[in-house]
Amino acid sequence: TGRGRAELAQSQKRIGRYDDGSFHHVGGIMKIVLATHNQGKIREFRKAFAEIGWEALPIAEVADVAEPEETGTSFKENALLKAHYYAKAVKLPVLSDDSGIIADALGDRPGIYSARYAGVHGDDEANNRKLVEDLKPYTGEDRKGRYVCVVALVWPDGKEITAEGTCEGIIRDFYQGKGGFGYDPLFYLPRYGKTMAELPMEEKNKISHRGRALRSLLAKLK
Ligand code: IMP
Repeated sequence: TGRGRAELAQSQKRIGRYDDGSFHHVGGIMKIVLATHNQGKIREFRKAFAEIGWEALPIAEVADVAEPEETGTSFKENALLKAHYYAKAVKLPVLSDDSGIIADALGDRPGIYSARYAGVHGDDEANNRKLVEDLKPYTGEDRKGRYVCVVALVWPDGKEITAEGTCEGIIRDFYQGKGGFGYDPLFYLPRYGKTMAELPMEEKNKISHRGRALRSLLAKLK
């Protein structure tokens, strides 16, 4: 139908083509590959994309590809590096996330080293303990911090879009809440009177660095 054709043309314009000329807009669902093995990130992205009718597939469900080394010196460099690497490997559009927490009192740390702050990549408990330890001398306003997230969407032909989101809070020295992941039980949001780990995922996505970065990225696609 004319309308069907117009809609298809619209989505093709918005989404772009694969290298081989086919489209990744299949059956009305936009499929996208998530360049992460972090279950916390995967849960949040799946939820956020489901809300707009996109299907997000973690890279582990798409292909068995070795992880790239995160050699970048900024969130943006690392996000782009991961997305380009996987997009090339799987020939599908890939969304990557590089994120972390920054404690004002610690300069730009843990920053891009958030996942391996205490030494072992992805050891949330050890990372949290180290952050509590490092912030011991600080009280009140000096415990302010922010989450930062850069998302990158990269197509197999090399086209790229990035967006950034941040979320401010107070890094406390005790844990509260069971939701979220990583530093969330320490990250207090004065406006809500709760830690990030006490927010239902939907609420977290509305205000988080990741949710903000993603909405900003999607706005750039329109
Ligand atoms: P990446 O996988 O190199 O981007 O590292 C991200 C790291 O930053 C995670 O392992 C967490 O330690 C931290 N992080 C990022 N986003 C969040 C979040 O939403 N909540 C808690 N910790 C986060």
